[in-house]
Amino acid sequence: MESAANTPTARLETVQAKIAKTCKIARREVDEVTLVAVSKTHAAEKIEPLLEAGHRVFGENRVQEAQGKWPALKERFPDAQLHLIGSLQSNKAEDAARLFDCIHSLDRMSLVKALPKAFEKAGRQVPCFVQVDVGEEPQKGGCPIPELPALLDAAREREIPLAGLMCLPPADIEPAPFFALLDKLARDNGLDGLSMGMSGDYETAIMLGATHVRVGSALFGGRSP
Ligand SMILES: *Cc1c(COP(=O)(O)O)cnc(C)c1O
Repeated sequence: MESAANTPTARLETVQAKIAKTCKIARREVDEVTLVAVSKTHAAEKIEPLLEAGHRVFGENRVQEAQGKWPALKERFPDAQLHLIGSLQSNKAEDAARLFDCIHSLDRMSLVKALPKAFEKAGRQVPCFVQVDVGEEPQKGGCPIPELPALLDAAREREIPLAGLMCLPPADIEPAPFFALLDKLARDNGLDGLSMGMSGDYETAIMLGATHVRVGSALFGGRSP
């Protein structure tokens, strides 16, 4: 049983309060920070209370899982926005373009080539964050830093709408230097959006300029492996 203080709705209020407090300290407006509620692995019944409480921005990491849950939820809450935060296979680009309102994982040339066709077929353009491999961990995906300017040029050439940069820093070490690095890379490349910060470090990320924080377990509790 979940106690009243432990429901996703109560946790949402707690996270929102922490975001507001951090924005105040950072002298930022609270509406500069979008809370992406990461609902991966959680059933629609667990997501609905947050939609009913008025939250509208959610993140999923798998196209197929989202296809199973979200069409019905979007029917009930047509202004819900779905963000893809996990890696994207080129052959799923069209499915992703139909279902998602933002993609956080554009990280390689094959996707830069696949996305414009996917957008055309889906009849909509989806803003994309370019994921950067800030910790030299290729297994996590992300564009290596030296290749970032060329990838951005190619995306701009094909008129992919660019929302900014995204990173997943290495686990178990202080994330702040990586957030600061992502901010510098964004400035150097003329981009404003910064998708960085998760349950354990979203306040640090906001202090360092995050515009989108991706928070899962702090809202929904732990995920079964
Ligand atoms: C799962 C996930 C998150 C959320 O992680 P929590 O620690 O549960 O907040 C954020 N970003 C990405 C890319 C994820 O896969």
